[in-house]
Amino acid sequence: MVSNKFKIFANKPSFNLWYHPLYTDGIHDKARFPKYRYQMVLKMLKQSKEFKKMSIQKPDPISRKSLLLAHDENYVDAFLKGKLNEKEMRRIGLTPWTPKMIERTLCLTGGAVKATIHAIKHGGITGNMAGGTHHAHRDFGSGYCVFNDLAISAKYALENQGLKRVVILDLDVHQGDGTATILANDIRTRTISVHCSTNFPFRKSVSDFDLPIEPESGDDLYLEKVREAVKLSLDFEPDILLFQAGVDGLEHDHLGKLNITKEGMKIRNQYVFEKMLDYRIPTVIFMGGGYSKPIEHTIDSFYDLFIDASIWNERWWNQSI
Ligand SMILES: [Zn+2]
Repeated sequence: MVSNKFKIFANKPSFNLWYHPLYTDGIHDKARFPKYRYQMVLKMLKQSKEFKKMSIQKPDPISRKSLLLAHDENYVDAFLKGKLNEKEMRRIGLTPWTPKMIERTLCLTGGAVKATIHAIKHGGITGNMAGGTHHAHRDFGSGYCVFNDLAISAKYALENQGLKRVVILDLDVHQGDGTATILANDIRTRTISVHCSTNFPFRKSVSDFDLPIEPESGDDLYLEKVREAVKLSLDFEPDILLFQAGVDGLEHDHLGKLNITKEGMKIRNQYVFEKMLDYRIPTVIFMGGGYSKPIEHTIDSFYDLFIDASIWNERWWNQSI
């Protein structure tokens, strides 16, 4: 009886989601950033009946050595010693910085790598409830991003976990410019970005595949590009998919310029999960942007994202019985 129970449990592991209170508390009250979104999403998830399918994990700070997989040593050390200058800090944003900013950044990036390792070892879907810091370049940060958790996780998977091919699928409304430049010469990675053509960053990088769409495009065009991006992901036959799942393409978003409905966003996520399940490709969710006014629209969409992740993660294990 006991062994049967264990067997059932072993075949249906939880959806593991990394989270730390510092994701909110490490940002200053006066910063122009909706910092409460992390704790609001968690609170909403905890009230759901699906929450029993989830397991919240606490990240450890990432090591300096892991940061150097994707970043310049001088930049990494300047940040760790609190010695970035005003201009460099302003370019990142989230100012004024608190002393907790360093620990927050290290935990956030550590959560991404831990979620990646877990997906590699066990399969299914995992996630980090922050990050998707795709605007961080090799030697400077930008647009709320200090270090590039996607590029670091990709390099970590290739260098330390023996993976051969990694896809970074970036569906945030902003282009994954930092990820594109950091991974530009690495043939083991494929970077794919679906984004609004006129949005930040105004000087775009070159991803392996860029799929820009015009402002005010709605669900149909967006989902067509998403399907194209997923096909490009599968064509590469990756060992893992790193999914930047920003919801700032929503119609209420303050920083996006697309008109995606909450339902369209759900269809997007479910399509990605379904296809990765079909091809048994472990998937890691990097939360990404979301800045709606009021913020509740963003919270609702992130809630949908993580609930659907837990449902498709369960299907992954049901199929393997
Ligand atoms: Zn964004």
